[in-house]
Amino acid sequence: MLLNLKPTFNLSPSLLKTLFITKKTSSFLLNRSRSLKPINPITQFGFRPRKSSQHLCTAAAAAKSADDGAILIRKRRSHVTNQPQQLQMSGKAEKRARRESPSGILLSLLCRCSKESNTEEALRLYDEALLNNVPLNVEHYNKLLYLCSSSNTNLGLKRGFEIYKRMESGNNDTEVVPNEATFTTMARLAAAREDPELAFDLVKKMKEGCGISPRLRSYVPALSGFCKKGMADKAYEVDSYMIDNGVAAEEDELAMLLQLSFDTKREDKVYEMLQRLRATVRQVSEDTATLVEDWFKSDCAKGVGKVKWDVGKVKEAVVKGGGGWHGQGWLGNGRWKVMRTEMDEKGVCQCCGEKLVSVDIDPSETENFASSLSTLACQRETRADFLLFQEWVQKHGPFDAVVDGANLGHIKKNYFDFNELKSAVNSARKLSPSNKLPLVILHSCRVKGRENGNSRNKTTLQHWKESGALYVTPHGSNDDWYWLYAAISSKCLVVTNDEMRDHLFALLGTSFFPRWKEKHQVRVSVSREGLKFHMPPPYSIVIQESEQGSWHVPTVTGDDFETRRQWVCATRTNS
Ligand SMILES: [Zn+2]
Repeated sequence: MLLNLKPTFNLSPSLLKTLFITKKTSSFLLNRSRSLKPINPITQFGFRPRKSSQHLCTAAAAAKSADDGAILIRKRRSHVTNQPQQLQMSGKAEKRARRESPSGILLSLLCRCSKESNTEEALRLYDEALLNNVPLNVEHYNKLLYLCSSSNTNLGLKRGFEIYKRMESGNNDTEVVPNEATFTTMARLAAAREDPELAFDLVKKMKEGCGISPRLRSYVPALSGFCKKGMADKAYEVDSYMIDNGVAAEEDELAMLLQLSFDTKREDKVYEMLQRLRATVRQVSEDTATLVEDWFKSDCAKGVGKVKWDVGKVKEAVVKGGGGWHGQGWLGNGRWKVMRTEMDEKGVCQCCGEKLVSVDIDPSETENFASSLSTLACQRETRADFLLFQEWVQKHGPFDAVVDGANLGHIKKNYFDFNELKSAVNSARKLSPSNKLPLVILHSCRVKGRENGNSRNKTTLQHWKESGALYVTPHGSNDDWYWLYAAISSKCLVVTNDEMRDHLFALLGTSFFPRWKEKHQVRVSVSREGLKFHMPPPYSIVIQESEQGSWHVPTVTGDDFETRRQWVCATRTNS
């Protein structure tokens, strides 16, 4: 019989070093390691769940038995009043004890397996932990389940369910409460087993049984599972459940449902998905655009639609909806002419000649948004600084335009050039009916540098300041909050080439902000003649449904705003 010399736990040299230095048992470990016998940090520490707490007389011993960390230690403290000095562990020592406990070491090894996508090793560690009665917590289980779900193998699937069963049964002496990640991973495992029904049951159990709010990702396994199997009614049921629980499908999910509705010839649902893409996604990816084209070119699409409809009712619905759609169902009949096209500067389709509309923004929506933006900025920025700024805007505003100073100082070069900013500010006066200076928002670091240097720049800054056209944001601030707030509260244009896609803007949601940005952002490019301002388009770049029933679907473009956007134009050939 061959001797297995492979260590039971693959400890890294640094982890071994930590163990040797921090443990009183180091000589024992060293002797064992020299003898090339497997090192098992779990058994070596003489871990005894629960019972071991009776040896809590030194910090080192506490470290050995701090299975689930602070909770157990704190519990002990509260029951025993006459504690030895050593037990009064600091938070840091508690953390260390937790890290160095068998559970802690197992977690760190599982994290490494997760980084290396080593499911096999994670399962071996799990089996060994069970043999040694190492208590597992939800983090251990989640790592294991995640690895099983991502391994995409039959073994991963089988073991994943087995591990979940053990976790659920609570046959360990500690109760493990599953969380959102547990259920989501299990739903993924269920989908991998081609069992969307189970994936859906898991999400329902999470919501109704455990009171945990599922996230969009929790629903995706069930939704995509039903879509793949062509089980339309079940997929719509998941979709309704999501809506009822306040989770909105995004482009991927809506595209899945669109494809399913198209495949199962549910034209009413195809119509609904197009409307939902319009309302939530606005501009679609290339894949979704192709799917939309395929639908309109299909025989099924040829047969849908009312031949006669109430024109007045459609017009009324258009007005009620704010323009650009009516939601009255498919109109017209016969084959569709489907083309890729572009819009001219005024929003006239180069294919069918229809003029796209500009969808209005309700002024009360802007006001509500300004107030939520202010709340958010006060949370993220130094509150007193931002309140001071709001007062300043109140006193000096409203403005006709706001300039993102840092961005415009970088138009031509990759370093900040004050002259570039100056020329942009002068050009931006044209945006004002009274040739008024725009408000320039500049971070204090830009101003200090300049003031110390060039005296002409200093004079310009002074002039802007005196005209109430310069606000210098304080040290440590993020000036994006400032220029955005100034523009939204003044209901005016903002001059910036920042595409507003980073974390800060993602916080603003997708229901209002993209619409506002489209109508208020002025971009700048450099040409031989000087700076060129690109005004917001006079039409809305959103899926549009005309009063005659034709459709125009815009695709997303990259950051280069001068690239012409592609649209899908779908009109009835006999209309
Ligand atoms: Zn057209």
